[in-house]
Amino acid sequence: MQLGNGDDFVFDLGIGSLRNYNSFSIPLNSIDHVFFTHLHMDHMSDLAYFLMFRGFMGGWEPLHIYGPSGSEPQYGTSHMVKHMLEMTAWHRDSFNGFPIGKGYDPVVHEFDFMEEGGVVYDANGVKITHWPTSHTKDGASSYRLDWNGRSVCMTGDNRPNSLTITHCKGVDMLISEVQNAAISLSSQALGMPAAMTANTIDTSHTPAYGLGYICKEAKPKVCVGTHYSYDDVFNNETVAQVRHHWKGAFAFGAPDLVTFNISGDGKVWWREGVAGDSSQTPRPTFKTPTIKFPAPRHPVYDVINDKIEANEIPPEKWYPKGHMPELVREWPLSKDIEIPNPFATPPE
Ligand SMILES: [Zn+2]
Ligand SMILES: [Zn+2]
Repeated sequence: MQLGNGDDFVFDLGIGSLRNYNSFSIPLNSIDHVFFTHLHMDHMSDLAYFLMFRGFMGGWEPLHIYGPSGSEPQYGTSHMVKHMLEMTAWHRDSFNGFPIGKGYDPVVHEFDFMEEGGVVYDANGVKITHWPTSHTKDGASSYRLDWNGRSVCMTGDNRPNSLTITHCKGVDMLISEVQNAAISLSSQALGMPAAMTANTIDTSHTPAYGLGYICKEAKPKVCVGTHYSYDDVFNNETVAQVRHHWKGAFAFGAPDLVTFNISGDGKVWWREGVAGDSSQTPRPTFKTPTIKFPAPRHPVYDVINDKIEANEIPPEKWYPKGHMPELVREWPLSKDIEIPNPFATPPE
C-alpha cells in the first residue's frame, strides 16, 4: 500500500509477492514496514528471501515487522522472526562479507492478539489498528489503515467477524478473503473431496455470502474479495453470492497485479496492473544526497576454508589475454564508504 506521503506498507508477504513487486520495479529497500495478519506460510513465505535480499540491495536500516502474539510465546511473531534469523544463519554470515549494515537486525513489533482496536502503528499521520479474528488458531488478526481521511481494512483469512463490521464502517476499501460457497465447484476444481473443502471453509474462511453480509453492514466504498481461486469456473457464481447481500461496488483483488487507487477526494478506481515481464530485482533507491555503504563485518574469504579457496582456478587461466579486469577481491572493513548519490534530486 503506497501512500501519497511516500510511506509504503506491506500487509502479508506470501509466495509470489516479491516476484510481483519486482515486476512493478519496486525496490526492495523502499519497503521498511511489513505487517502480518497471521503466520500461515501462504502469507509470510517470502519474508525469508525479502529479509536477506533487502539487506543486500541497500536496505541497510532495520526492517520493521509487525504481527500478533500467539496463545503461547512460541506461536508469536517475535518467536517466528527470531527463529527465521537462526534458519538464515548461513546466509547471513555469508553475506556479512558485503555491505549489509543493520539489514539483518529487524525490529519486531509484536502486539497482543486479543486487543480490539489496538494501535500498532502511529506516525506521519498514518494510524494502523488491529483486532482479533477466528482463523484456524488464536493469533489471526485484521488491520485497518487510516491516513489523510482515507481508510482501508484488510481482514486477512478468517470466518466472517462482527468486529470487522465494527471497525470498518464506511471505509474506502474493505479487502477480505473470499471463497466460493458452492463447495462442489471448488472441490472439483481443486481435486479435493467435497467434505474436506467444506470443512476447511466452514471452520476457517469467508464464503462469498458472508463477505456480502459484512459489506452490507460496514458499507465500504468498495468491497474487495481476494485470497481467492480467480477462475472463470467460479467467478460468476462468487459475484452472485456476494450480491445476495451487497449491492454496492465489488471488485476482485485478483488477478495478480490488480491495482486500486483511492484519490484525494475519496474516489476509488481499479484496473489490471501493467508490469514488465522481467522478474529482475530492481536497483535500490536512495533519497539521500550521498550513499553510505556500511562496512562489511568480515572479508568474504574469512569464511571460506584455505583449501577450498586454493582450488579456485586462477583467473589468469580463463580470462583471455589482456581481458582480465582489475579484480575487486577486498572491500575496506575499517570504515563506511560514502559516495555522491547520482539519482538524488539536486539541492535547491
Ligand atoms: Zn490462513
Ligand atoms: Zn491464507
